[in-house]
Amino acid sequence: MGKESHKSSQLLSFEKFTPPGPVLARIQAARRPLLLTHIYPDGDGIGSELALARGLRARGASPAILNTHRAPERYDFLDPAGEIRVATTHGAPAEVKAAIAAADLFVILDTSDPSRLGKLESAVFAAPAPRVAIDHHVCRNEGSFDALWSEPRSAATGLLVLEVLLGLGVEITSPIAEALFVAIGTDTGWFRFSNASPHAFEAASLLAGKGADPERLFGAVYETSTLGRTLLLGELLAGLQSDAGGRIVHGLLRRSQLERHEVGYEELDGFIDVMKGVRGADVLLLLVELSPQRFKVSLRSKGSVEIHSIAERFGGGGHPKAAGCRLEGSVDDILERVLAALRELLAGYPP
Ligand code: 5GP
Ligand code: MN
Repeated sequence: MGKESHKSSQLLSFEKFTPPGPVLARIQAARRPLLLTHIYPDGDGIGSELALARGLRARGASPAILNTHRAPERYDFLDPAGEIRVATTHGAPAEVKAAIAAADLFVILDTSDPSRLGKLESAVFAAPAPRVAIDHHVCRNEGSFDALWSEPRSAATGLLVLEVLLGLGVEITSPIAEALFVAIGTDTGWFRFSNASPHAFEAASLLAGKGADPERLFGAVYETSTLGRTLLLGELLAGLQSDAGGRIVHGLLRRSQLERHEVGYEELDGFIDVMKGVRGADVLLLLVELSPQRFKVSLRSKGSVEIHSIAERFGGGGHPKAAGCRLEGSVDDILERVLAALRELLAGYPP
């Protein structure tokens, strides 16, 4: 799946992605599918879940959504009825266990790495119901699923969910269109990144025609920061440093800074993208302190440099231009380890 070789990249994006039969069949047959996405869900994960749940509900099924973490506040508007349940806040593990036991299918969206389900992984993989994954990351765990749609050429999981819904003959209502527009929009940097393919624009056109209002959605997602979040971004930018003759720009956020500005980890999404504004920076690196001696590492590439191999080397993963991992140790130690790996990588890409 997604493994065919391609002669030219020029026309690839015009290609329609077709959901594999077994994925469609499993979803079509499910009465009580439980939809999940990765830890610290993003717009693509949340939007994909909401769109699929709404589409399946319209077909008469009773889908549910269960996530490990709360989504960033800026996505709350997409879920006015509270369709998304969060394992951490919907307290009692018994309730979480019941939701998992009730499922007759698990649909895992925007990840195909079981460990990215966090603390839900063990319960989901111990349950008897089959597991389907729909994802646009490179899959290293094909054996973990009963059916898999892994399409790394797709800009977003939301594009794949759109194809699933169209494949099932679901009418794209305005709430479905909005959720998918946000899924695709956020994963493509609002249609600016290199993954903003003709296919992504084609989907955007279809969704805008079905009631997704790009201006309203942009405002809701990107123009609703708290003042604290904006001040924190300012602190990050004020402390940026460069390495490798300016080809690497790196920054650090301490837990105490997040606490002082009352900003949750899930609200940091997008900070590293601002760092991409620096001329000459090929790679951006952001370290965020999760707890003493534990850091989240985010990597971005602006040009041809592919950084996911570095994240994978440190136990993480991602895409060629956006990847990450979590590392333990002192900040100096982690920074030096990641910088050394990046300098070595950059040596293979002359400036
Ligand atoms: P971000 O830096 O925005 O958290 O993540 C960028 C990309 O890297 C995402 O697409 C995500 O899938 C991937 N990623 C981030 N952290 C991890 C991680 O710890 N493990 C894996 N496998 N992928 C990660
Ligand atoms: Mn995604």
